[in-house]
Amino acid sequence: MIVGDIKPIEEIVASISGYEKILIVGCGSCVSVCLSGGDREAQMLSQELKRKVHYENAPPAVAVDNILRQCELDLIKAYHEIPAGTDAVLSLACGAGVQTMAEALDPLPVLPALNTTFLGASFEPGIWQEMCKGCGNCLLTYTGGICPIARCSKSLLHGPCGGTNGRNCEVSPDIPCAWVQIIERLSRQNKLDLLSGIHESRDWRPGGAAGPRIRVRTGVGGSPGFS
Ligand code: SF4
Ligand code: SF4
Repeated sequence: MIVGDIKPIEEIVASISGYEKILIVGCGSCVSVCLSGGDREAQMLSQELKRKVHYENAPPAVAVDNILRQCELDLIKAYHEIPAGTDAVLSLACGAGVQTMAEALDPLPVLPALNTTFLGASFEPGIWQEMCKGCGNCLLTYTGGICPIARCSKSLLHGPCGGTNGRNCEVSPDIPCAWVQIIERLSRQNKLDLLSGIHESRDWRPGGAAGPRIRVRTGVGGSPGFS
């Protein structure tokens, strides 16, 4: 899932300065699962933004709504009505959701209330861990299902680097060395031979180095060439 953190309240208050009627919109997908941007968090932010302590003048009027996914234009258009008089939307979605909302509601300002951080997963309650950087050329077949791009501090394709501190990364004792984990898992799978090959210098163009990426899926209703 996409993981995000709510921005500091001072930053959010500064971003809505000058607006009199704000609509806070939660997103019911990734950011609700990581407990930063769903309906509950939208309601909590609304309560906080109504407190006079944040303002020199009167607080803005604040309403709250929620969309299942703010990253889908069709869902925004189909299910969302902006209350009359709204002069800014405060989105609790990831950066993709904020931008899709801004596109759908143009010229209404859509402001981010979250900092989008990474693609991650939760292995224990309340903790999310970065797992993938969307590199566009997945290596997990060769690395025991552990991503060296996202989980090795140096994104090494061959490791460990020599700075390994016990089973941890030299960057921090709190970070497990991804390459120790890879070797241990491949050993358990009796697949250490997968590490004997040398990966050529990586082509980072599928990972975004050639500019913004786009994916076209044909054969579904409404897609290019569908009849
Ligand atoms: S190798 Fe690339 S696509 Fe696969 S998990 Fe890592 S960053 Fe994501
Ligand atoms: S110690 Fe391990 S995780 Fe850290 S940079 Fe080196 S190989 Fe990567």
